[in-house]
Amino acid sequence: IPHTTNICSNHSFDTPTIPFPHHSGSSSVPSSLKTLTLDGYFTFDNLEHAANDFGNIFHYLPTAVLHPKSVSDISSTIKHIMDMDSATKLTVAARGRGHSLQGQAQAYGGVVINMESLEGPGIFVETSEVPYVDVSGGELWVNVLHETLKYGLSPKSWTDYLHLTVGGTLSNAGISGQAFRHGPQINNVYQLQVVTGRGEVITCSDTKTADLFYGVLGGLGQFGIITRARISLGPAKKMVKWIRVLYSEFSTFSNDQEHLISSNNSFDYMEGFVIINRTGLLNSWRSSFNPKNPIQASQFSSDGKILYCLEMVKYYNPEKMDGLNQDIEELLSELNYIPSTLFLSEVSYVEFLDRVRMSEIKLRSKGLWEVPHPWLNLLIPKSRILDFAREVFGKIVKDSSNGPILIYPFNKAKWNNRTSMVTPEEDIIYLVAFLPSAPPLSTGTDGLEHIMTQNKRILDFCTKAGFGAKQYLPHYRTLDEWRAHFGTHWETFAQRKSAYDPFAILAPGQRIFQKAV
Ligand code: FAD
Repeated sequence: IPHTTNICSNHSFDTPTIPFPHHSGSSSVPSSLKTLTLDGYFTFDNLEHAANDFGNIFHYLPTAVLHPKSVSDISSTIKHIMDMDSATKLTVAARGRGHSLQGQAQAYGGVVINMESLEGPGIFVETSEVPYVDVSGGELWVNVLHETLKYGLSPKSWTDYLHLTVGGTLSNAGISGQAFRHGPQINNVYQLQVVTGRGEVITCSDTKTADLFYGVLGGLGQFGIITRARISLGPAKKMVKWIRVLYSEFSTFSNDQEHLISSNNSFDYMEGFVIINRTGLLNSWRSSFNPKNPIQASQFSSDGKILYCLEMVKYYNPEKMDGLNQDIEELLSELNYIPSTLFLSEVSYVEFLDRVRMSEIKLRSKGLWEVPHPWLNLLIPKSRILDFAREVFGKIVKDSSNGPILIYPFNKAKWNNRTSMVTPEEDIIYLVAFLPSAPPLSTGTDGLEHIMTQNKRILDFCTKAGFGAKQYLPHYRTLDEWRAHFGTHWETFAQRKSAYDPFAILAPGQRIFQKAV
């Protein structure tokens, strides 16, 4: 494949068995697209940006990038492609921020739609009894936060990083430490405007074309392009108490996590991470966290141990603190962490939600942001989380200094099972996210080859153990793997595809369906 660079073309275990559509090779494609009357415009040169993503591993060059100004630009382009000679095999990928990991927002030889350029009525906040915000599918969550805060409101469910687009996260799920209470972001949507794979513009909701609505939520971009979304809001607080505590036993840590999600009177956010073979951990926290007991904390040595960090946050308004500290003390008294390791910080709500941005700025300044990211996100049923931890932490994964390993549970009861998102069949599910960076040219334990081999060992272990684990932000190579991923939901998923994108034009980078010749 001529435009595929680095490991995708030569990596033995990651050679796609569902091939990408061949480059149309036809010079008539650009001239045909040029005949369209649009509010926005196409570009046909310097398209390398659209052939890259955060994963920085897969690179598939499109033929054109559409910079739409209106919804009708997107609709006309899809209709035009549908009417073209099918031998062109032309496909269309919406691209949010391109923060995918394995080329999911790329379209080899096709058209990439730069969703951030979509204009429209802007961000509209409805402040009535059931407040919501209407936004473009290409809007960044960080902008949604700033706009809604002007009205004392905020979305309830987030991702850890806010410089992602609304359409991009709603095509997956959008999971963070609020999901145990509010479900993922796809559970907090009232209505969508979608351009289907037939080019129709449809407004859908739980009561109107519900099949499309639930199909698109978590639908990996397969049924339509989200051009607008109506997202549920709640009252926003101004500040947060941000607490970290450490454990040396996984079972004590996970029991406490499960205890916290069992109560409605708990923290507003809860996550956790695994620390393997990391030195100087507490020193690196000291700039932003204060130990509750500095003398005891200074005697605590983290070096060489596997530790589990529980991270909790309570939102509050400084002018109305009544009983807050006491509530927190009470919640903490029910937990079994190592007493000397209680660390606390107080920051604004915005600083907390936008926390990963600071890391991004630091990493960018060192040239360490635009490097390959062989991330692996898994959903593990609670009944097998101890087996998973025993086998993976310290055995398969011997170091966490390449990037964080997140782990936290949520209640399935808070998730709407009508969306396209699939999870293991249990009441409590853990998200486990391995988020390493692989500096280019490294051949050591932080090198791309090493981490990808490690990921494969983790996946093989899950398959062999028959956990019923699912990938989040899934990446598979064969149709059989996709069928297994969706399990009993496959038929519905495939039926929705034939209803809304029968020519398999949309989101080819997910490599689920292939455009017919
Ligand atoms: P893209 O990568 O551009 O697109 C993702 C997929 O959706 C592609 O298939 C694309 O074609 C399709 N798509 C894009 N826009 C639309 C649209 N408008 N309509 C239909 N389909 C569309 N995820 C979490 O759940 N929780 C986290 O805490 C979290 N943290 C992250 C932190 C970082 C630093 C990064 C890089 C990613 C994180 N993610 C997290 C993953 C994130 O949800 C995905 O990267 C997701 O794809 C959103 O990124 P994006 O907006 O750039 O979408």
